[in-house]
Amino acid sequence: MDEQRNPSIAKADLQKRYDVIIIGAGIGGLVCGAFLAKRGKKVLIAEQHHLPGGYCTSFKRKGFLFDSAVHHIGGCSKYSIVGRCLKELGLEMDFLRLDPMDSLVFPSFSIDIPAEIEDYIDLLQKRYPEEREKISNFFEEFIRLYWAILKEQDNSPTLARFGGLTYGEMLDSFFDNPELKTTLAGQWGYLGSPAREVSSIGMCQMLVNYLRDGAYYPRGGTQTFANALAKAFANSGGELLLSSKVEEILLNGHRPRGIRLEEGPKISSDCIVSNIDARQTFFHLMKGEVDGEYLGRVKAMKESPSYFLLYLGLGPEVDLKGFRRGFYHGPNNQWKYISAPTKVDQSLAPPGRHIITVVATMEEGYEEVMDWKALKEKLTKETIDYLEGLVPNLSKHIEVVEAATPKTLERYTLNSKGAAYGWAVTLEQTGSNRLGNRTPIENLYLAGHWTNPGPGVCAVVSSGWRVANLILKNGR
Ligand SMILES: Cc1cc2nc3c(=O)[nH]c(=O)nc-3n(C[C@H](O)[C@H](O)[C@H](O)COP(=O)(O)OP(=O)(O)OC[C@H]3O[C@@H](n4cnc5c(N)ncnc54)[C@H](O)[C@@H]3O)c2cc1C
Repeated sequence: MDEQRNPSIAKADLQKRYDVIIIGAGIGGLVCGAFLAKRGKKVLIAEQHHLPGGYCTSFKRKGFLFDSAVHHIGGCSKYSIVGRCLKELGLEMDFLRLDPMDSLVFPSFSIDIPAEIEDYIDLLQKRYPEEREKISNFFEEFIRLYWAILKEQDNSPTLARFGGLTYGEMLDSFFDNPELKTTLAGQWGYLGSPAREVSSIGMCQMLVNYLRDGAYYPRGGTQTFANALAKAFANSGGELLLSSKVEEILLNGHRPRGIRLEEGPKISSDCIVSNIDARQTFFHLMKGEVDGEYLGRVKAMKESPSYFLLYLGLGPEVDLKGFRRGFYHGPNNQWKYISAPTKVDQSLAPPGRHIITVVATMEEGYEEVMDWKALKEKLTKETIDYLEGLVPNLSKHIEVVEAATPKTLERYTLNSKGAAYGWAVTLEQTGSNRLGNRTPIENLYLAGHWTNPGPGVCAVVSSGWRVANLILKNGR
């Protein structure tokens, strides 16, 4: 299969009935489909976009290949979730390990996080010698918490002690040094909620994967990861229908009986997996035909934030020698994540040229914006001005400029308000408080970042795999 071409079927070739229909070809949906198809199930994945991958897609402009949203993936070693998933599916991917894992740039200090967790602990212990022992204790407990959640050890003392805390409260229980706490919380942007709000469980699931196992970039761009999963799915006989929006989930009392496409036929199946926005699933596709209490719960939940994104294609003379990839923190919980993927994989741009991408927090109240085009222009200019402070004469080297707002993210993925991570990863919406993979409708499942375990590629891989196992265990 060509890297950018996908094994999509035509509507005319659709069968009347499938064992399982998956709505959405995000990573959670693709993984779920790939495992079910591998076990001989007749599976259809219906995707509204013309590419599979959801937030894990890439687009090309004038020879520059930009990642739409995801910049790297955790858990890719052979012992971790993504690595094990690929092995089970018989897939080999060329991952480039990032070193340093990230840089954290604060107004008054900065730190490069080494790729190996032991080196990071060592660096922190040298920088904060008076906290040496507490740093060791913290990492021990943090990793213990990770395993307790993964292995569902409900009687774990670590889980009992920290599971009900925000990450900020957990840090407070170990440390007094404010700079150390700021450093250890410096990657909260990966979950969208600051340390005072984000749950310790959510932070632990995300961070331990990155720190213990590293962060990886799929050579050729993040789309190659989605394409590889789509290929595994198709090779096992799965059918991927692109450019096809699902408009309705059809019910027979309290059981699914199929879907209706926006333009096209009704397709039958008595088992459905929704890999899409949960509000869309229950309020739009099912028109609220779910248990009232559950619906009330969904209604009360809060989305994670969305972002402004800038994509720059740069000429060969640009000087990126001193450039650092990572979080650039400003006041009031504002940050920018800035990366230059061509420093890791030169194949993304024409020879000698470079790419810089930025993910930036939005100011409070952005949801009320009326003129998105004007906002996009304003933020593009402000962000380029900011980058001028990091890369000498940046503006002179720009050959391609693209930008995206929450509206753009919503348009391409139909995630409500362009939410980057499904539901916000707060205490009230993590672990058993997040929507489960099962729903009140028997044989209607949720996979992806609106359900457990949570957001990020590694977590949605786990979610898709878990749902496939639930369906198989159910004797389907
Ligand atoms: C800017 C940004 C940067 C990020 N960076 C990272 C990162 O570096 N690393 C990381 O691990 N995570 C990152 N994330 C988070 C990560 O991308 C998501 O948590 C994850 O990809 C979500 O996967 P998903 O399976 O839930 O589906 P999604 O990616 O949400 O995909 C859902 C799919 O369903 C389709 N769909 C929706 N409605 C319908 C319908 N009615 N009919 C048919 N199809 C439909 C959509 O088109 C889409 O393809 C980032 C997110 C954002 C926004």
